[in-house]
Amino acid sequence: CKIDYAPADDLLADRVILVTGAGDGIGRAAALSYARHGATVILLGRTIAKLESVYDEIEAAGGPQPAIFPLNFEGATLKDFHDMAETLDGEFGRLDGILHNAGLLGRITPFEQYDPALWEQVMQVNVNGPLWMTQALLPLLRTSRDASVIFTSSSVGRRGRAYWGAYSVSKFATEGFVEVLAEEVEHLGSLRVNSLNPGATRTAMRKAAYPGEDPMTLRTPEDIMPTYLWLMGPDSRGHNGEKFDAQPPRT
Ligand code: NDP
Repeated sequence: CKIDYAPADDLLADRVILVTGAGDGIGRAAALSYARHGATVILLGRTIAKLESVYDEIEAAGGPQPAIFPLNFEGATLKDFHDMAETLDGEFGRLDGILHNAGLLGRITPFEQYDPALWEQVMQVNVNGPLWMTQALLPLLRTSRDASVIFTSSSVGRRGRAYWGAYSVSKFATEGFVEVLAEEVEHLGSLRVNSLNPGATRTAMRKAAYPGEDPMTLRTPEDIMPTYLWLMGPDSRGHNGEKFDAQPPRT
């Protein structure tokens, strides 16, 4: 956890970084924060109006001109991911990082009652989509001198918890995939893949999971950005295949 990390203003200067689920919650804060530290951010998400509002905020703050990439992981095909790689290659010629942040909670419910279609949907959005997108983008990531790929995990992706069903299993799968890919790219020295657990954070997803909780007791997405910046930028070079937390455990 690097919650006390003090990033340089130009930490991400000249880097092209893709943020998924950039329209809301933690992804929104990360996109704004990465742009504030000099990154050209590609805003990926399924609700264009939300992405446009992040785009406008970055422009208004004088950040590097971002790009909007509308994509819904439900229904996205391999062709979509390869077209995307081609577009990014044409527009930017490289990619220096991906924050895999988009996620779906599904339902908190006993497994016996879990709807198989919803289960598949959660696995598609949280695991399969991001994984095949990463495969398509690997050639582009390899052209960067220092690329960081961050997969978003959860405490229930490190220890299972009753009723968390597909969400918990999807985060375990994410952690496993990070280990597999990290070992495969280790020899490159220029590409690292790690997992990051944001911890309890004041967003719509947290509200849906814990409706009775007072959101004011939670850290905001902005509060946890130091670790997001550290892991995306050059100061975390050499860390590969590791599990990080964006905030200390709550007492
Ligand atoms: P939010 O629900 O606030 O934001 C999720 C984002 O993902 C939204 O921008 C959403 O788009 C996007 N998204 C959802 N489904 C799709 C899809 N099918 N295709 C493309 N984009 C999609 O969640 P958080 O900000 O809280 O969560 C961000 C990440 O952090 C998630 O991976 C979550 O699992 C993880 N996490 C969060 C914790 C917390 O306490 N908040 C704790 C542990 C982990 P749209 O706005 O259009 O719906």
